[in-house]
Amino acid sequence: MSEDPRRNLPRTDTLLASDWVRAASTRLNATTTRAIVRRHLDRARTQPSFTSASFRDDLVADLTRFNSGIYRATINATGVVVHTNLGRAPLSPWASEVAGHTAAYVDIEMDLESGKRGRRGVETTDALTLHVPAAEDALVVNNCASALMLVAAQSRPGRILLSRGEFVEIGAGFRLHELMRSVGATITEVGSTNRTHLADYRRECEAGEVSAILKIHPSNYAQSGFTSSPSTQALAQLAREYDVPLVVDIGSGLLAPNPHLPNEADATSELEAGADVVLFSGDKLLGGPQAGIILGKRELVTQLATHPLARAVRASKFVLATLAATVVGEEPPVHTYVGLSSEKLRERTEALAATLNAAEVSVDITPHAGRVGGGGGTGVELPGWAVRLPESFAKPLRVGEPSVVTHVQDGACLVDVRCVDPSDEHVLASRIIECARAAGNAGAGTAHTGH
Ligand SMILES: *Cc1c(COP(=O)(O)O)cnc(C)c1O
Repeated sequence: MSEDPRRNLPRTDTLLASDWVRAASTRLNATTTRAIVRRHLDRARTQPSFTSASFRDDLVADLTRFNSGIYRATINATGVVVHTNLGRAPLSPWASEVAGHTAAYVDIEMDLESGKRGRRGVETTDALTLHVPAAEDALVVNNCASALMLVAAQSRPGRILLSRGEFVEIGAGFRLHELMRSVGATITEVGSTNRTHLADYRRECEAGEVSAILKIHPSNYAQSGFTSSPSTQALAQLAREYDVPLVVDIGSGLLAPNPHLPNEADATSELEAGADVVLFSGDKLLGGPQAGIILGKRELVTQLATHPLARAVRASKFVLATLAATVVGEEPPVHTYVGLSSEKLRERTEALAATLNAAEVSVDITPHAGRVGGGGGTGVELPGWAVRLPESFAKPLRVGEPSVVTHVQDGACLVDVRCVDPSDEHVLASRIIECARAAGNAGAGTAHTGH
């Protein structure tokens, strides 16, 4: 008859003093380490399937989860440039550096000349209006959803006109019209799902009590076939006739047209076409931190900036600083990755395959389309290449250090280097080799290298 191993559980203080707990918690404060240890002891006491071996492994894993840097650095080998599950846009090296020094005291809201309180984040609004001269002013908030919420709250008690074809769900079940209605906005559905005409908007303007016309650019879906919607110019003219603002939500944040993304709306073109304000995200195609950016007429921007809810969605100093660095500094990684040519990617993919084959991990390469992602560039395929591994590689690559996330498709684990920083390529190769060896799997990939 074996004794219940739970009877021999060590005491909290014994665990805290042990070498292995100390080694796994070098960066943690004492309260945290104690709380994690207690949680594991409590769990073990109520767990009939308890074994002492798994107790130690689980405890070390939990301590390490925090101790090894909170949120793990991940190599994005999916080919999806703005990967929402991986934190959307990676910051440029300079923007990351700026995030570092911003962690200390900074003059985010102080005029150092006078020593008095200054306007919060002026450098950031300056950076934005420098790049979008069509905008008189700028406001940065928590995210694009916050910007829409402010517009919705500001529009009360009037009606916001929105085409029926633009009642959009953006992900995780969130719908923009529901968001706006939840703060008391009245949204009037205009037109039909596939076709909305200027006359439909005009009829509603005639009926009165319109406080804004809202246009939402399709970013995560595309309409084709028998479709129609008025241009920004046409809507702007109508909006002026009835003296109501035209607000355009462009979702992805291009400041100006980008030749690689010809169908993506941009702030400059929309404002020049007559939009009064445009709203977009900072961490999609702009390539910066999570933010919602509002650009346009000074009077409207000021109204939104002084709405009581503006305080609830204000951007942090980290966001204001890294957003400015993204706009005025070196090209953000997102732009580099979107612009990579298929030939260049093929060279890099072949080089990776050659490294792997030389290490006796037999692989081949295959064409692989990258995507813009993050609910942008719908249908846009970015031609590229991938190294093909058996699907069994996907999990060990993900859970190792550094984590590598690949594209799993049709029983294969596809490694796309588009969004991999070239300086990470050797680490990527080592991780694949390590996984192949661990699985005793060298040579289990497909037979031939690319040509
Ligand atoms: C992504 C998106 C949003 C939401 O932006 P967040 O910055 O994630 O809040 C709103 N509108 C459109 C059109 C979008 O594409």
